[in-house]
Amino acid sequence: MSEFEQKVLKLLEEINGKLDKLLKTEPTSVSSAPTTSVTPSPAVTTVKPSAIVDKQEEEARMEQKPPVEGRRVCPECGGTSFATHEDRSQVLHQMGGVKIYAKRYVCKKCGWEA
Ligand SMILES: [Zn+2]
Repeated sequence: MSEFEQKVLKLLEEINGKLDKLLKTEPTSVSSAPTTSVTPSPAVTTVKPSAIVDKQEEEARMEQKPPVEGRRVCPECGGTSFATHEDRSQVLHQMGGVKIYAKRYVCKKCGWEA
């Protein structure tokens, strides 16, 4: 083995030692980085869908409320008083075993059904 080869080998060993140190220190910094960057992302993903669901439910309530509060006008007789009936043949949606039925509005004057 020539002197040059021995020098190269020593250098390589030094580099190996430095790499080992780097590899030994890196895992701790690498493993701590993902935990800090990973933990917020599940929270964000769990918050977002529920926020969307809340908005959708709000919109559904907004759509349902105005007619219930008596702004509905009968196209047949112009009457504004309606009886509300749950239409059990039409399930709007089902949440945890609770069924929400479509509502039917029946004019109290002439019996017109919305
Ligand atoms: Zn009517």
